[in-house]
Amino acid sequence: MLSRKQIPGVVPNQQCDTYAWFSQRAWVEIDLGALSYNIQQLVQFLSPHTELMAVVKADAYGHGAVTVAQTAIQSGASWLGVATVPEAIELREGGIQAPILILGATHTPEQIHAIAHWKLQPTLCSPKQALVFSDILESMNHDSPVPVHIKLDTGMSRLGTNWQQAGEFVQLVQRLPHLSIASIYSHLATADDPDTTAMEEQHRRFEEAIAQIKAMGIEPPCLHLANSAAALTDPGLHYDIVRVGLAVYGLYPALHLQNAINLKPVLQLKARVTQVKTIAAGTAVSYGHQFIAPRELCLAVVGIGYADGVPRNLSNKMQVLIRGQRVSQIGAITMDQLMLDVSAIPNIQEGEVVTLLGEQGKEQISADDWAEQLNTISWEILCGFKHRLPRVAVM
Ligand SMILES: *Cc1c(COP(=O)(O)O)cnc(C)c1O
Repeated sequence: MLSRKQIPGVVPNQQCDTYAWFSQRAWVEIDLGALSYNIQQLVQFLSPHTELMAVVKADAYGHGAVTVAQTAIQSGASWLGVATVPEAIELREGGIQAPILILGATHTPEQIHAIAHWKLQPTLCSPKQALVFSDILESMNHDSPVPVHIKLDTGMSRLGTNWQQAGEFVQLVQRLPHLSIASIYSHLATADDPDTTAMEEQHRRFEEAIAQIKAMGIEPPCLHLANSAAALTDPGLHYDIVRVGLAVYGLYPALHLQNAINLKPVLQLKARVTQVKTIAAGTAVSYGHQFIAPRELCLAVVGIGYADGVPRNLSNKMQVLIRGQRVSQIGAITMDQLMLDVSAIPNIQEGEVVTLLGEQGKEQISADDWAEQLNTISWEILCGFKHRLPRVAVM
């Protein structure tokens, strides 16, 4: 049996018994053993001089940032990446001391004060932003320089200074007081594409930018370029740090990368049956009466809905696992509840656990399955689970 560890603000999962079953109608289960395994697999895969940054933005892709960050650092990651200042502060308040890179843009005095106070490491994307940083740190009489990470745009057309201006930009930052260059980095737009042409062009531009910087007599202290897909594709993209999100959570960024290393999914989505009933042939189910029972069937109501992050567009399409078997969801998924046809399984009881994502016995349903049905990517599925669902850590 799984041992269950309580995480702050979370009721530990109860076994199915007469009183406890309703204490949690639905939850996200986080397997810290799988998380630790994935980190170790990634660390082994990298050459010894490359460090692993666990990207824990967006509440660790919905897994719970502090718990994930702690486990990642204990298991061999040495950096953490977040998108925003509040995400970084949450980690520091959670007692995490590892270096934290803020991947998003920061500009305001409040953000810069917080960066200095909490010893966070910002991304600098433009000369203007660099000047603002230096001025505000000056006005604060900040003594030790703030480590900053220079972001180059090599073809993503998102944050960063154009790679062709890399030399000038780095030279400017180097001359500004209160800032010290900790790394130079860029981000790839197509690393998950089996056709590597566009990625190779970005790689070439990154190399050219670095050559330009070196030609000015500046030796970049640290370089990084790879996300999960690039990390699994080509060791030539690893440099000094890889910034890995999705793979940390046990999912593959693309089908053709599944053989690179072994990963275990960390997240499972579970809910309980709250009522079981028999409905006659011809009975309509849920809002809009989209589903009409073709025969007498046994219907189970489950306490999870689109307000928890189960996409309404999966209505009448998704399957779930109960007692190790696949059953079909029927009728429109509602805000807090959904219905199943459990006719194939005898004697389903109220309180039984339904697995919406994860495995039961030999059956498995993954975020990739949902992503395919919804014409989206697994990243979006993971980030979609709302905070109404407690995150329950299991070892
Ligand atoms: C989110 C993000 C990553 C992680 O991407 P994955 O594809 O999830 O590995 C890496 N770098 C930057 C700049 C990011 O924004």
